[in-house]
Amino acid sequence: MKLHEYQSKNIFSKYGIPIPKGRVTTTAQEAKQIAEELGGLVVIKSQVLVGGRGKAGGVKLAKDPNEAEQLATQILGMEIKGLPVRKVLVDEASAIDQEIYFAITDDRASKKPIMIASAAGGVDIEEVAAKTPEKIVKVNIDPLLGLREYQARDIAVAIDLPRDYWRDFTKIAMGLWEVYKNTDASLAEINPLVITKDKKLIALDGKMMIDDNALFRHPDLAEMRDTDEDAPAEIEARKYGLSFIKLDGNIGCMVNGAGLAMTSMDVIKLFGGDPANFLDVGGGAGAEKVAAAMRIILTDPNVKAVLFNIFGGITRCDEVAKGILVAMDEVKPKVPMVVRLVGTNAEEGRRLLENANMITAETLADAAKKAVAAAKG
Ligand code: GDP
Ligand code: MN
Repeated sequence: MKLHEYQSKNIFSKYGIPIPKGRVTTTAQEAKQIAEELGGLVVIKSQVLVGGRGKAGGVKLAKDPNEAEQLATQILGMEIKGLPVRKVLVDEASAIDQEIYFAITDDRASKKPIMIASAAGGVDIEEVAAKTPEKIVKVNIDPLLGLREYQARDIAVAIDLPRDYWRDFTKIAMGLWEVYKNTDASLAEINPLVITKDKKLIALDGKMMIDDNALFRHPDLAEMRDTDEDAPAEIEARKYGLSFIKLDGNIGCMVNGAGLAMTSMDVIKLFGGDPANFLDVGGGAGAEKVAAAMRIILTDPNVKAVLFNIFGGITRCDEVAKGILVAMDEVKPKVPMVVRLVGTNAEEGRRLLENANMITAETLADAAKKAVAAAKG
């Protein structure tokens, strides 16, 4: 789950990381009022769950409350990367001397958290990472020991941070580590962390991602979820405990197991097709879950065929087949359905489906070819 900038920064602030004064609003009038309260220069920032808002014109400086209202009106009317802007954050503007990139995230290679920093932070950090990776400093954090102060100081040295800032930087680093650890975040990012003209370190932007599988123990965070920006199908899928991600192709995929789902998508691609979604119905999927998954897949008008790839381990294939048939009856899909069942009672399962005029296959390659052909009409 992604958090908005204003939500992330509020959390940062609770952990002692300095942030600009400011407040979020949905109206331009209130933006003006906030600007009046803050006095002086403010920055109007679109709150959408994508990066690159600045480059898209979604972050603007206003010199007075009237301009704040005007810019808020403009930004609240924008769409950024397809997402309508519904909220703006009005922050006290900072005079910037330097922009630093600073984050903690999961490092799959080392299987540990990793702290990443760069003196060349700001809106071009992706380009820095691609073209001058030597400007990016990384330190793994031992999850049992936690972040050590000397590690934070090493980072400060490595990014050539002047000595005067080491103390504050270390405090921010320790704070960010606590944020990352205590919220079960997979990302806690400050970009930019700025050195202001009056020589303060302050988190100007914030981004957090929380591990969905840990949300059950963070009801306060779970409540922060902004479903405005999720595809309706993804919201529906979440209700049934399905992992679903909409994609741009035309072959709907219903698979049990995330690895099998990835493989199925690869094999569809291999035979010239294009998956319409990633969907993992999980283990022991009953008829109700299968029906929900089928409804979700079929709400996408691009879907021209559906490929079921089910491994019957714990759940027997004949049970899965019965689930599919109940779901078919309920959803009455108009597109061809290709089913590959393997595992316990696979033959019996296939027979049930063939009797219901579904296309069956024994191997994944065969199933993918049939689905690709079916999608082409
Ligand atoms: P992003 O583009 O979505 O990452 O949004 P940011 O909040 O990081 O803002 C983008 C850029 O706008 C920053 O890198 C800064 O250069 C600039 N910016 C943001 N806030 C301020 C501010 O208070 N003062 C000044 N001078 N520039 C700002
Ligand atoms: Mn940013």
